[in-house]
Amino acid sequence: MIPFKVVCCNCGKEARRDEWRWRDDCGGVFDIVLDFQGREFPELVDVKEENIRRYAQFLPVEGLPSVHQGWTPIVKKTIAGVEVNFKLEYLSLGGSFKDRGAYVSTAKAKELGVKGIIVDSSGNAGISFSLMGLLSGINVDVFVPKHAPEGKKNLLRLLQANVHEIDGDRMDVNREAIKAEREGFVYVGHWWNPYFIEGEKTMAYEAYEQIGSSDYVVVPVGSGTILLGLYKGYQELVELQVLNKVPEIIAVQACGYSKICRDLGAKERCLTKSKLADGIAIADPPRRRQIVEAVKRTNGHAIIVEDEEIKESLVELRRLGFIVEPTSAVPYVALKQSIKEGFIKPKSKVLLPLTGSGLKLVDELIEIKECLKM
Ligand SMILES: [Zn+2]
Repeated sequence: MIPFKVVCCNCGKEARRDEWRWRDDCGGVFDIVLDFQGREFPELVDVKEENIRRYAQFLPVEGLPSVHQGWTPIVKKTIAGVEVNFKLEYLSLGGSFKDRGAYVSTAKAKELGVKGIIVDSSGNAGISFSLMGLLSGINVDVFVPKHAPEGKKNLLRLLQANVHEIDGDRMDVNREAIKAEREGFVYVGHWWNPYFIEGEKTMAYEAYEQIGSSDYVVVPVGSGTILLGLYKGYQELVELQVLNKVPEIIAVQACGYSKICRDLGAKERCLTKSKLADGIAIADPPRRRQIVEAVKRTNGHAIIVEDEEIKESLVELRRLGFIVEPTSAVPYVALKQSIKEGFIKPKSKVLLPLTGSGLKLVDELIEIKECLKM
């Protein structure tokens, strides 16, 4: 394992590594900082492993469980003269990119002797943490909004999570989850948790090994873990002198949940809030400033998309063979716009992660299809 520090992004103070902390006393979020000490990328990669443990040396945790996690396939397509590499994150064990972060976080909690973990999510994060908890023998408390779809709540129960239904909005659910921290039970919510980003960064290493460098990365932004994970992974590849620069990041949000994109100068053209992009419907993500800075440093830009565009893109993605959830269609809308408006240059190379499986949301997908017929 590479030596590492846990540092508060707000005050710069270093935190202890032998206890689970998700937020500093000053209210700041933590980041993990690795010290590569002149080591080189090839010697750190365990090429025998075709899963996330291939990068065990880069991860600040001992005892990663032996299941197939990560190493998702890439499908290459040429769209309007641009090479688009779809990374099929939705084919992961729990059906989304959140498996990577949940896998590393749960292993870390176990290493620190934690009995149970507490998560707030009704969607992919809850499913990923429940699955990882099940295979690590750790209790999982999941806090969900009362109005969350029954199918999702049942799936969490099937994975032996303790499901707590909360009356209120997403922020109320978050507050109740945090309040539930007690002796041996820690809050691991991905909005804050730095180990989650460590898991997500492995997507950048994989993409580099699979297709080399990319010119652009197009990602949906909710709490920003996939964006910050990819940014950190690519930045570490630059630090290790494997790449010259981090790809330009194109951050994408949906109408009504677009603070980050507006910070980056994007225009919101719609009046109603998105109902489809539920995976990224987060009003005020704690890492907002970090996300904006990351996009700016890569010379990237931001796009806000509408539900009508998401619907059309979902159909197009299915025609390409990808059964994904509506949130996964968000970056595809942005890809097409960016090509059309000249942000993405012809003959360039794009990485586009398809984040979540549509098989969890068949009822919603059928409803959208019915709307399109009218
Ligand atoms: Zn601090």
